Amino acid sequence: MDYKTDVVIVGAGIVGSAVARQLSRYELDVMVVEKKEDIGGTASRQNQGVVCATSVFSMLMYEDEHMMDPTITNLFTISNALIYPQWIADLEVKYRQIGAICVAKNQDEMDKMEVARKKGWERGDYRTRRVTKKQVYELVPQLAPGYIGGYYCPDECAIDVFDLVVAMMQNAMENGVKVLTKTKALAIDVDKETKTVRGLKTDKGYIEANYVINCCAIYADDLAKTTGYCDYRCYPRYGQTPIMDKNLPYAPTPMVRPCPGRVATGVAITPTASGNLGVGPSADNGEDKEYTATTKEGIEKVMEQARKLIPEMDLRDSVTQFTGARCCKDPSNWVIEVSHNIKGYCEAVGITQGVTAAPAIACYIQNLLENDGLQLEPKDDFQPHRKKIKRFVDMTEEERAEAIAEDPAYGTVICRCETVTEAEIVRAIHTPPYARSVDAIKRRLRAGMGRCQGGFCSSRIVEILARELKVPVETITKNEPGSEIIVDTCRK
Ligand SMILES: Cc1cc2nc3c(=O)[nH]c(=O)nc-3n(C[C@H](O)[C@H](O)[C@H](O)COP(=O)(O)OP(=O)(O)OC[C@H]3O[C@@H](n4cnc5c(N)ncnc54)[C@H](O)[C@@H]3O)c2cc1C
Repeated sequence: MDYKTDVVIVGAGIVGSAVARQLSRYELDVMVVEKKEDIGGTASRQNQGVVCATSVFSMLMYEDEHMMDPTITNLFTISNALIYPQWIADLEVKYRQIGAICVAKNQDEMDKMEVARKKGWERGDYRTRRVTKKQVYELVPQLAPGYIGGYYCPDECAIDVFDLVVAMMQNAMENGVKVLTKTKALAIDVDKETKTVRGLKTDKGYIEANYVINCCAIYADDLAKTTGYCDYRCYPRYGQTPIMDKNLPYAPTPMVRPCPGRVATGVAITPTASGNLGVGPSADNGEDKEYTATTKEGIEKVMEQARKLIPEMDLRDSVTQFTGARCCKDPSNWVIEVSHNIKGYCEAVGITQGVTAAPAIACYIQNLLENDGLQLEPKDDFQPHRKKIKRFVDMTEEERAEAIAEDPAYGTVICRCETVTEAEIVRAIHTPPYARSVDAIKRRLRAGMGRCQGGFCSSRIVEILARELKVPVETITKNEPGSEIIVDTCRK
């Protein structure tokens, strides 16, 4: 099927979803093309969910690299101080201020962090401050002995990143954006004479468009090459991450991390928005963009490093583990620009802290496009609030009784670990962006993310999906085609 639109965004991760939401404020036809069966991205599903408030910790790693171009570091500051709170309020996403502390073993590490603090200060980070040994142990009483001080930023936040991406895309769709999932962008169609974008070729047809925005993260170079200009390479930096159970006695209140090294910020212990602890990630460069395996050695190494911070950390408390691939770029800067070579081509590439910067990147791109000549007429009827599914787990007893009286399916708990009811699952199936798989339900509602990891609820969710979509249970997938859960039924 062929389409015609003003702007097409390729990639429905956190960056593409934020751009879609921002552009949905204007009288424009916007389409999003995503190759996977659901929106939500790749790296955007596999991260620590931290909205970083300080650039100090990453400043150390990227000391002499372009990433710390002031425009980029200002994106952090703007994102946190101005844009994020409004987006979170409009979209009703779970967000928790946790703070972050970076601890030093010796004076050399303190000196390195002081250099980074000064650089951060020059770029608008006024809140990261030095703390004494006594203050460090007051903030993190569980910390291993031997640390001499550190740097603390009170503004670091944990966010429910799965819900954030869904919320941004849902709100974009409520404001008119069209989303094509299971659609792979194959090439950008460029008029060779005028060097102007004509549209996008996909495996499902042609999309005529004035602008194509490349938000493909680790695959951005593949798409960029089809314009005839691409002077960078994207590669994965794998991060293995154990996720620990909720309510552990040794869980710290702030995020705790060691003094960063040259390649990565180091294994951190991070309280998440849902109350679990994220440990890691490790940092190993690779070439295989699809690789997501965890290894026994890799996870043990992460835990060993975590125990240097909090000795009680115990792998037996882990509920799941994953490997995420950061989108690294060679050369290693963030590029957020409209192309100087091809009129109508825009990209956001090399984004290594996209959870933090996505709303600011979206606003930045909107301004870039406007400066480039795209007519952006604000919509009179833009609706900033998404229609959030009422969450049983967050309701008071009175609200629960009312919800059950209105819809008895609120009275049937399907996921017992995370207290997710049948009514919420049915709504997730029928609310854009429509959930069509077990993992899509998980990302929207956390069903299956608790201690039993879907052991009890997965089969019930398969049944509900099949019933609501009026399809055989054998066709319901965990995620992508080929991941069907039930092969046959014994009741014929
Ligand atoms: C382990 C780990 C921990 C992290 N922790 C944090 C953190 O705490 N805070 C923080 O700010 N950042 C963190 N990050 C980084 C953050 O996750 C990423 O910067 C962010 O998710 C990138 O978002 P994105 O939308 O650019 O990419 P993605 O989420 O990867 O989305 C890109 C999308 O493009 C689609 N796509 C690609 N090619 C095509 C094509 N040809 N056609 C159609 N679709 C296509 C993909 O399917 C995918 O859905 C972490 C990353 C990792 C790996």
